[in-house]
Amino acid sequence: MGFTTQEAIEAINTCTQCQECLDICPTYKITGDVLFSPMQRLNTAARLFEGEAIDDRLIESIYNCPKCMQCETVCPMSIPVTRIIHRSRQVLAERNLGPLESHQKVINGILKKGNSVNGDPATRLEWLPEEFPRHESDTLLYVGCLPSYLVKDSASSSYSVLKKLGLDFMILEDEGCSGTYLYESGRIDLAGEFFQKNVERFRARGIREIVVPCNGCLKCFKYFYPDLLGKTEFSVRHVVEVIYDLLGQNPQILKKVEKTVTYQDSCRLGRGEGIMEQPRQILDWCGVVLKEVEDNRANAGCCGAGGGIRSVYRDLSMEIAADMLGGVPTDSVVSACPFCTFNLNYASKKKGLDKTVTYFTTLVLQALE
Ligand code: SF4
Ligand code: SF4
Repeated sequence: MGFTTQEAIEAINTCTQCQECLDICPTYKITGDVLFSPMQRLNTAARLFEGEAIDDRLIESIYNCPKCMQCETVCPMSIPVTRIIHRSRQVLAERNLGPLESHQKVINGILKKGNSVNGDPATRLEWLPEEFPRHESDTLLYVGCLPSYLVKDSASSSYSVLKKLGLDFMILEDEGCSGTYLYESGRIDLAGEFFQKNVERFRARGIREIVVPCNGCLKCFKYFYPDLLGKTEFSVRHVVEVIYDLLGQNPQILKKVEKTVTYQDSCRLGRGEGIMEQPRQILDWCGVVLKEVEDNRANAGCCGAGGGIRSVYRDLSMEIAADMLGGVPTDSVVSACPFCTFNLNYASKKKGLDKTVTYFTTLVLQALE
């Protein structure tokens, strides 16, 4: 369990400073500041682990990484940069140097309101296209905060598609937050308690499988929960995986949707989980014509939203998103990540880029209607 400071130091010591990771890193690419590059972040982490004094800009460099993992795909020494950055955030929290004030606002919202987007808990289920179904199952569709409040289409279309495909599942009336932001901010003390409460709730309902439309929740349930609590009794799958399995038996039920789109590989689903061909196959079954962005699949650009950076460094997050959208050859983008969908649409609007980003299941639902 966990990744120790000693392991992090040993990994940092293998860095040859070859600079292979510099140009590929979105925060370095946008800012041109070497402090915000993977190589320099390792240097900062080493100083932090040695107990040296750390100034505000160095703290910023640890918190403004969206953990896109692009550096890890090119590093010849296979250095787990994002795990080292996470360990650094934990040490910052232990030394009372983090999380930052803006992080703290989100953390307070999670603890008080049970969601990471300052939503009113009474409106959490507004996305639901029908009366709350009083149905029990050992499979839970865990919608997540962002789909519930900010990308409601991703919530309602995931629900409707899974129903139409005949999956037996339940949803929770008091769903709450997965707690990923607590972990990402370095407050693993709070995250551990929060995760434990969720595990107990799932256990009480007899949940054996969790299906998620949100890639942050996916990573959280799949990796962060076991990291802090050990093995959990439930498995986790992304809605794309479930739809692929259900449709694979009978793809001809889909009507053709005449559209040309670009599929955007989110960091956590593509590079993180290797789920790159299934969504493309499903879109192909839907009759959609795919036009790829030059950097796709494991080389895909980052949307700039993840790792807790959007709430703190919004302009940087938006510039990374706009840079990614700049290379997209169509005006219609399909994403299987609600957070990417949200941030890319935000950047497109702010920058006047004329790109519309749609969540994956919205399109699948059109092919099922
Ligand atoms: S994870 Fe992404 S943003 Fe963070 S250091 Fe690596 S390439 Fe840069
Ligand atoms: S690519 Fe790897 S070894 Fe080279 S500078 Fe970056 S972190 Fe160090």
